[in-house]
Amino acid sequence: MKIYCHCKHCTNKVFLANEAKSRYQLFLSWGNPFAIKCSYCGGQNQIEVNNVRAEATRQSIPIATTLSGGLIGVLAGPLGVIIGLIAGGASGGAISYNEKQDVNNFNNNYI
Ligand SMILES: [Zn+2]
Repeated sequence: MKIYCHCKHCTNKVFLANEAKSRYQLFLSWGNPFAIKCSYCGGQNQIEVNNVRAEATRQSIPIATTLSGGLIGVLAGPLGVIIGLIAGGASGGAISYNEKQDVNNFNNNYI
């Protein structure tokens, strides 16, 4: 999950280097409002925590990720199959499902 806001000067999406899973966690670590410098135009922004939004890091559905992991394995041999399935399972499946919940929680809960 990534969290972002929009720069008030150039309106670009600015991703925040913060692992907060909720606006409240973000508030605890950065305060409200917090100051950030836009990485596109260099403009200074005062951002309200409630204007920060979250989005999922991965859009792919779990089964597609797992299949591609297996496919890497077919090309790389038996050991690759195992590594590929573990990598595919870890990057898809449960994690992306939880991530969607985290994203919804973040976007639906204001402070
Ligand atoms: Zn900007």
